[in-house]
Amino acid sequence: MCGKCPDIDNLPTHLYIDNEWQEGSGSVIDCKNPKDGSDIVKFKGASEADVDKAVDISRKAFETGPWATFTGDQRGQCLNKFAQLLEDHASEFAYLESVCSGRPLGQCTYEVPLVAKAYRYYAGWADKIRGDSYPPEDGFYKIVRQEPLGVCAGITAWNGSLHFMAWKSAPALACGNTVILKPSEKSPLGTLCAGYLIKEAGFPPGVFQILPGNGEVGAILSSHMKIDKISFTGSTFTGRKIQDAATKSNLKRVTLELGGKSPAIVFDDADMQKAVFWCTVGIATNAGQVCAATTRLFVQDTIADEFLGKLTAGLEAIGKGIGADPQNMATTYGPLVDKIQYDKVRAYIEDGKKSTKVIAGGEEYTKGGYFCSPTVFMNPPDDAKIWREEIFGPVLCVRTFKTEEEALELANDTVYGLAGAVYTQDINRALRVPMGGFGSSGTGRELGEYALRHYTETKTIWIK
Ligand code: NDP
Repeated sequence: MCGKCPDIDNLPTHLYIDNEWQEGSGSVIDCKNPKDGSDIVKFKGASEADVDKAVDISRKAFETGPWATFTGDQRGQCLNKFAQLLEDHASEFAYLESVCSGRPLGQCTYEVPLVAKAYRYYAGWADKIRGDSYPPEDGFYKIVRQEPLGVCAGITAWNGSLHFMAWKSAPALACGNTVILKPSEKSPLGTLCAGYLIKEAGFPPGVFQILPGNGEVGAILSSHMKIDKISFTGSTFTGRKIQDAATKSNLKRVTLELGGKSPAIVFDDADMQKAVFWCTVGIATNAGQVCAATTRLFVQDTIADEFLGKLTAGLEAIGKGIGADPQNMATTYGPLVDKIQYDKVRAYIEDGKKSTKVIAGGEEYTKGGYFCSPTVFMNPPDDAKIWREEIFGPVLCVRTFKTEEEALELANDTVYGLAGAVYTQDINRALRVPMGGFGSSGTGRELGEYALRHYTETKTIWIK
């Protein structure tokens, strides 16, 4: 440990407001380690009064604080410094991410430099937010400016908290907004640890605040009259509520990154080894708790026996190794995030067994901890819950197909549209096949230049 960030006996357990740690006065957050259900830490999250206070400070920082006069270059310097500090403390961040969520420490360690990279990427944009101008043909000279929105709140899911922190705060700050983040109560510690770096990175008070709390805190932010934008990553169920709250309050801008039931299509000309590898990654990473997990697999009938033999053998081998300590760097497959998620996934598996043949996994883990082996169902009926609904666990449903048309029709038959994978050697087919439609997987885009558009408002000034 570095001395600045906490060790396991001294975890971040406060709200980060106005560049200071402050005790929360809301509901208790009870962090547990899903590898064995043991207690990590309990602390009070934000209350409505805490949210109001943070929002007022954030607004003041946006309107009249030093941040309001920062040049793009200065904003970029803060983001770059923050990225450097994240990397300097990578091991603490990785550990705090892993310990509450059960995500393997090695994976969390691998992610921290990627998170830093996102901050650096948007640091580069901070002095390049530009507008347009139009000639005064009609007697008016027109300047079109991209102005920051104001106070932006980010509400994040637990399964990639540091990524989501960066994907929301980095473009918002680059554009000159102020930011309030609410991490999931299931895994708030990694995000909270960022509070140790914000002041040192040079962000003035009130610019970048962190409010741990439960779903109620998210609801308060979503309906808050003084927040200009919500960027949300989480379930479609909660996303709808947020959109609704935004509409009913001040019509704040909303970006929603929601759930999925993503397809993978394997054609008979695919590189078998690569396809097996990536389909395994697609369902086993983070024990299937990935928004873009490929949970519906379509295999061309001519190669189905060989392909599924290899795939299920690999997944069965992963299943035999479950129970390993996710805080050990060598572990690659961890538990589900908590008992609620475990019970939910088990209920789907038991329900699936009533209608569908299990060809790998499926058995319950009884040695303590919320582990679940990768489970594969063959040919679920059209109306099976396992086939239609996002499970957010290591449950894969497989069907075979004969033709490209049939594969596409099956793959697109879902309300979701988050991601898709195609395995073929035929580039024409690969370009033809990507699935269209984005449906109930959300609205707006994160990362890249595209995200910047969600954090500015276009304003036209007419000059006579
Ligand atoms: P949830 O929707 O349950 O929670 C997400 C966040 O919303 C949490 O911070 C949660 O707080 C908060 N929240 C809960 N209720 C409300 C409310 N009424 N108003 C505002 N905020 C609320 O999702 P999970 O955390 O379980 O994450 C899993 C889901 O996220 C999956 O559906 C997955 O597909 C999706 N996801 C999407 C991604 C994408 O990029 N499209 C990426 C990763 C995940 P708390 O947890 O404290 O209750």
